[in-house]
Amino acid sequence: MDLNNLKIILKDEPSYRYRQVEKAIYKDLINDWAEATNLPKNLRQKLNHECPLAINGEIFKSKDNKTIKAVISLADGKKIESVLMRHRGGRNSICVSSQVGCLLGCQFCATGAMGYKRNLNKSEIIEQFLFLARYLNKINPLEKISNVIFMGMGEPFLNYENVLGAIYDINDQNKIGLGARHISISTAGIIDGIKKLAKEKLQINLAISLHAPDDKLRSELMPINKRYPLPKLLAAVDNYIIKTSRRVMFEYLLIDNINDTFTQSKKLAVLMKKPLYLVNLISYNPTGKFEPSSREAIKKFRNILEKEGVAVTQRNSLGQDINAACGQLAQI
Ligand code: SAH
Ligand code: SF4
Repeated sequence: MDLNNLKIILKDEPSYRYRQVEKAIYKDLINDWAEATNLPKNLRQKLNHECPLAINGEIFKSKDNKTIKAVISLADGKKIESVLMRHRGGRNSICVSSQVGCLLGCQFCATGAMGYKRNLNKSEIIEQFLFLARYLNKINPLEKISNVIFMGMGEPFLNYENVLGAIYDINDQNKIGLGARHISISTAGIIDGIKKLAKEKLQINLAISLHAPDDKLRSELMPINKRYPLPKLLAAVDNYIIKTSRRVMFEYLLIDNINDTFTQSKKLAVLMKKPLYLVNLISYNPTGKFEPSSREAIKKFRNILEKEGVAVTQRNSLGQDINAACGQLAQI
């Protein structure tokens, strides 16, 4: 599927056609142009030829059916993963990839271990939404995807133009039409991206993968920290908050005996005790190298942060049994 050339395909058509085509793709979630019966037959044929809608993907379901992983094969044979999480109360969020692989090589991440292959284009990012939206529509037409998070494979800010282009389409009322507050980007701390995002007229959510309370450990776990060390990163976040007045979430994985000690919780509290900062504690999903912190260790860590006046939430990981949890996404 390549939505990038739709405007060119429709250039000789009356202008209302583009709207009809958009509705068919994004609202009616059609799989084949034959289903768009409001379009003339010859146009349907032309579209099927020049912009086929089929998406080549496979579905894997977790035992509890709450997590659905899609493995999508791209035109060049490369594969990416996206995850649909069905929460209680009918809320459905999807986690999408921004790159095939990742350049940044964080020690705890399976995507990092596979290395970097290439950036996804805008259509390949949207394709992940459409594939899972079609799936959800098939199993329950009353449910919709309510949140999109860029926490799949890759570093979104190293593919800034395509990621933002896709987000504008996700937000566009004529396309997917999801409110900006329901869209989140997570970055390993690419400062240029944070600066650019602060200038966008978009109220999306920003999350920073922090995972360590000091530069020494952070550089060991996340090599990108050498280029963008903590003082600079946090200054960029503070600037972002001044410009946008939006809350920023800091993701902190808890890895046994690596970043979960008492001293480290105290250090983290000093960094994080600021208005509009929110710490999200995540249990480490095993990818081979480390062990997750125990429940008690997580509880202690959280209590200390809270006692110090830091805003804290905890993320329950879904989909470990199908390798669909954070940091477990990897395809060769
Ligand atoms: N590259 C971006 C976005 C993708 S990673 C980033 O790093 O933020 C999405 C989230 O999963 C990040 O917070 C990342 O740190 C986290 N993650 C990576 N490996 C993980 C693991 N093994 N267990 C749990 N979370 C992990
Ligand atoms: Fe890349 Fe994010 Fe994984 Fe680090 S955690 S290797 S930045 S995908």
